[in-house]
Amino acid sequence: MSGDGPRLRDDLSELVGYHSPDVDVDVRLNTNESPYPPPRGFVDALAGAAPRIAYNRYPDREARVLRAAIAASIGVDPGSVWAGNGSNEVIQVLLLAFGGSQRRALVFAPTYSMHTKIAEATATAVVTEARDADFTVDAAAVEDACVRHRPDIVFFCSPNNPTGTLEPHDAVTVAAADSRRLVIVDEAYAEFCDETAVGMVATHPNVVVVRTMSKAWSMPALRLGYLVAPPELVRALTPAHLPYHLNAFTQEAGRLALDYGAEMRTRVALAREERGRLYAELAACEGVRVWPSAANFLLFEVEGGPGRAGAVWEGLVRRSVLVRDFASNATTPGCLRVTVGTPEENTRFLAALRDALAEVRP
Ligand code: PMP
Repeated sequence: MSGDGPRLRDDLSELVGYHSPDVDVDVRLNTNESPYPPPRGFVDALAGAAPRIAYNRYPDREARVLRAAIAASIGVDPGSVWAGNGSNEVIQVLLLAFGGSQRRALVFAPTYSMHTKIAEATATAVVTEARDADFTVDAAAVEDACVRHRPDIVFFCSPNNPTGTLEPHDAVTVAAADSRRLVIVDEAYAEFCDETAVGMVATHPNVVVVRTMSKAWSMPALRLGYLVAPPELVRALTPAHLPYHLNAFTQEAGRLALDYGAEMRTRVALAREERGRLYAELAACEGVRVWPSAANFLLFEVEGGPGRAGAVWEGLVRRSVLVRDFASNATTPGCLRVTVGTPEENTRFLAALRDALAEVRP
């Protein structure tokens, strides 16, 4: 802010917000959403539940029914679950509770940029280490970074956004070896793979797994995310979050959604199949390098550097296909990220990409 207005915090005035260009296109493959709405039965059940909500009362501040349902769905104790308005809010509350001006968080780039942004907004210092050339982090590198930076918080993201890679189990274990350090494993895309760190929560007092209903569950509009952590850690969050933060409608929606797990798994299976097809077709494109992904998106590099990749991104937009442009990011030069869409959308993306690549020669 400038002029006579209120003075923004000095440490925030230098920072730019979350920015992902929003263009009106036919094929939106830029934000890792599900291309499918949630099941009709869920939408009807939610509409049926809406009149029964006690709108004149505050919602259950503990979200007990929802937390018990989430806990049952993943086989943990209800006291190990805490839910918020999307996993971004869950991460923010973790940082409000365990970060702050005396604390330091460690991230491995490239990764989900909101980890850094949320840390900065909570006045938590951030140190960034680079991933390997294949975008993983090995245990030795994590140990070395922990010795050098002595972080209070370490972020992992598995599968990692935007690379799709899984974080090795031993890398997470090494970070968690010091029990005073909070280790956050962001599993926003866990349903698209067969690995999870949820099992570590029972054996480590300092490991938190963060999940969301925004991706595989097809309900980002309802804003629901949760964490799995040791009950003591969950209780410690209380001073850091607002009372009645999770509205009654979202609590009901989350509870009802869990009845449609089979439908969710069907959508995920289709996404995994299409991910395989996209991977194979991208790998066959001349001048394109694609990384294997465990999520519902793929990162690929366009030969010829950031300039050409940016031009290819524009060529896709002209063909009414929107993907995420990471080309000018230092850790993903020349890279674009495509979300797995419907089979028809993926086919359209591939055709548009081939045309855009032919149009912008290296
Ligand atoms: N974590 C990761 C890795 C993500 O990619 C996203 C969404 N882009 C989120 C968290 C936040 O999702 P939400 O707040 O909708 O749960």
